[in-house]
Amino acid sequence: MELPAYLQSLQERTAAVVEAEIAPRSSQVDQAAQWPAHSMKALGEAGLLGLMVPAALGGHGQGLLGLSVITEAIGRACPSSALCFGMHCVGTAVIAAKATEFQQEHYLRAIAEGRHITTLALSEHGSGAHFYVPQTRIEDTGQHFLVDGTKQFVTNGGHADSYVVSSVASSDSDAGDFSCLIVDSDSAGMNWLDPWLGFGMRGNSSRPLHLDRVQVRHENLLGEEGDQVWYVFEVVAPFFLMAMAGTYLGLAQAALDVTGEHLRARRYTHSGESLRDIESMQTRYAEMWMAVEKTRALIREASRRGDINHPEALPFILSCKADAGDTVVRVTNEAMTLCGGAAYRENSRIGQMLRDARAAHIMSPTTDLLKLWAGRSLLGLPLL
Ligand SMILES: Cc1cc2nc3c(=O)[nH]c(=O)nc-3n(C[C@H](O)[C@H](O)[C@H](O)COP(=O)(O)OP(=O)(O)OC[C@H]3O[C@@H](n4cnc5c(N)ncnc54)[C@H](O)[C@@H]3O)c2cc1C
Repeated sequence: MELPAYLQSLQERTAAVVEAEIAPRSSQVDQAAQWPAHSMKALGEAGLLGLMVPAALGGHGQGLLGLSVITEAIGRACPSSALCFGMHCVGTAVIAAKATEFQQEHYLRAIAEGRHITTLALSEHGSGAHFYVPQTRIEDTGQHFLVDGTKQFVTNGGHADSYVVSSVASSDSDAGDFSCLIVDSDSAGMNWLDPWLGFGMRGNSSRPLHLDRVQVRHENLLGEEGDQVWYVFEVVAPFFLMAMAGTYLGLAQAALDVTGEHLRARRYTHSGESLRDIESMQTRYAEMWMAVEKTRALIREASRRGDINHPEALPFILSCKADAGDTVVRVTNEAMTLCGGAAYRENSRIGQMLRDARAAHIMSPTTDLLKLWAGRSLLGLPLL
């Protein structure tokens, strides 16, 4: 599938930023568990933070396809940076979905100008992978909302300028059952808990956030009463799934590339044979390539259908992140085997890839839940 010309130009712009600024510091991000400020700055300077902002507000007006293509380009070099950028884009898409004039001027224009980073704070320990049932509560005092609760795994935690926080109303207030609000980073009562020290995705600064009666102005409530389910399944889930599918596809492609280079370069002195001359290596490499290409085709088709609101988009969208998760874990694992001892060294590039890949199955919606939902949707059953 050929990409639209405008998206191709964004892809090339991203590739240039990745080569100059992001790739050279990818292993440092992993080893120091360092939030990739340099990546977000470079992406902002290249005008890419406004990927999901409507063109009328100075952004690029991209949808699911654009999100998957750009996160793939970043994920090839630095999956942590792709995750941070992807979560910023999902947060932006959630704000943009029903943005009021205030939200457009205050948040979306600043994002388009590269001056504002946002992110998604939905998950909680209490409901775990079931991110759509928050226990964080909001209370409407008449003057403002008060937000109380604890979020876990907030990517860009402590670094973003705002957080899209999900909550339930503490009473029958006008806020509805489930609401998303934009919480500014400098609000009083935001307490960051443990720093992120992950097995992989070590630069994403995914931290717990305790919100202690945080005051939020009424203008920061997203959407209208009663559209909570619409938000979760029409905006949060598709954009999140595409950002993650793109990130993991990029990572799988990188593992394939590194393996190809190694199979060509590694030569035995006793026989003069290189690894690529061995038949079983050729077969296994072809299987890795097939998995990556099949995943890319599914993601492209899912995003194409999602962007045109195709009536049968749902099982494609649900499946593509589950499939990307299966592919990236399989391909990085194969890369580790095919590249042998060189890959098994401490802090090797493939070692990092394998660790980063493992996040794919446990980030919500998890692979288990996505396969379940895809099956239910294909069989004509409600998702929940
Ligand atoms: C690197 C990273 C970044 C993250 N970034 C963000 C972020 O920016 N914002 C955010 O809101 N969250 C984020 N998360 C959180 C993530 O989306 C999940 O909410 C979190 O990982 C769930 O962890 P848990 O241990 O509570 O899962 P649990 O709920 O304990 O689940 C454990 C396992 O049980 C399985 N399981 C649970 N219920 C079922 C079921 N009914 N059927 C079948 N299997 C089931 C799950 O699939 C999972 O594999 C991030 C997580 C990670 C690892």
